[in-house]
Amino acid sequence: MLPAMRHSLLIVMLVPMIARADDVATRARKLHAESIVVDTHLDAPDQLASKWADVSNKGATDHFDIPRAREGGLTAPFFSIYVAASYADRGAARRALELIDLTHRVVDGHTKDMTLAGSVAEIRAAKQANKIAILMGIEGGHAIEDSLGVLREMYRAGVRYMTLTHTNTNHWADSSGPFYEPDFDPKNSKVHGGLSDFGRDVVKEMNRIGMIVDISHVSDDTIRDVLAVSRAPVMASHSSCRALSSIPRNLTDDQIKQIAAKGGVVMINVGSAFLDQKVYDEFVALLGKVKPEYMKLKAKYGKDPAKLRSEMMAMYKRHGGRGGPRAPWIKVVEHIERVMQVGGEDAVGLGADFDGIEDPPVGFEDVSLYPKLSEELLRRGHSEAQVRKVLGENFMAFFARVEAVKAKLASEPPFTTVYTPK
Ligand SMILES: [Zn+2]
Repeated sequence: MLPAMRHSLLIVMLVPMIARADDVATRARKLHAESIVVDTHLDAPDQLASKWADVSNKGATDHFDIPRAREGGLTAPFFSIYVAASYADRGAARRALELIDLTHRVVDGHTKDMTLAGSVAEIRAAKQANKIAILMGIEGGHAIEDSLGVLREMYRAGVRYMTLTHTNTNHWADSSGPFYEPDFDPKNSKVHGGLSDFGRDVVKEMNRIGMIVDISHVSDDTIRDVLAVSRAPVMASHSSCRALSSIPRNLTDDQIKQIAAKGGVVMINVGSAFLDQKVYDEFVALLGKVKPEYMKLKAKYGKDPAKLRSEMMAMYKRHGGRGGPRAPWIKVVEHIERVMQVGGEDAVGLGADFDGIEDPPVGFEDVSLYPKLSEELLRRGHSEAQVRKVLGENFMAFFARVEAVKAKLASEPPFTTVYTPK
């Protein structure tokens, strides 16, 4: 055969394959661009609070800025109003208000690209107007300083979800604890055995005012109590599957089933230790190794939690970072599919925890990369409708159910329970 002929024969054989591959890529790009893409946990405010930057510039925070959000087709990120445990009983509400103010300032400075949103309708309107809808969620229930009045004011300031605890157990809800501390022991976080009576009223009042109840970070006991007491479906804003990585922050199959059965959603966290058992195991081994060094730091800085935390982070850095090698990005898709299998296709979405994690998976390093998920899900045979659900429609339907509960409870008077220390 002449070389030229061989060449053309090769083209004849390859063209249909290339065309098919491009077909999926093109279909995915179009589908992604048209879809509502929601991410329920983005820690940009905390980063901007320590180092202010113009979010219209690339690299404003580790994982977020307007150009990358546009590239990623991101419709509606929830800015996390993250109140660190160190603020508990030390100005937690003030910290939350400062980050809410910061979020307003970010949006006000970029009205061509961004708009503040607080409802399903406002997210859809933002998509129509080709703007990024910014929503807010409080991370750490200590932010309300044990006051239902403060909770209601947070809603009025635009906050639409509250994670009941961060890594600290507060005065009314148990946390799953600070799993990244070398002397971590879940028993230390068990104070109420789940929710206290006041905690139950916090959840019921959240249902009444339309504040989404977020069970990421809380203990298994607290999840059980929330599922029993909540009158609205609940969300895990940034948690993944414990069957695939046993980090205590992840959800068991049973919990996923119960959340789904109540009409709730599980939003996948992309931190490598959340995604990959190997990464989490290496992290646990590192904890054992650094424990003696950590105990010395704790003796020295135990009274200054912020200082202890920064010293601990520096210690991890000296040891080559937490968690060793990072997970491959395809693991994100495996977690999505696990929730679909266990809880059904209506129960899953994205809560990447960008800007709050140091170890995003290889190939999924920032908000510009969401389109990869659409393409991979299509390649795996999921329908366009299913991909849309994962990207945002599941969250939208869930948020609508929370709004419907608020409407149903409109005639109920506000809770006036006052927290009394034991
Ligand atoms: Zn978190």
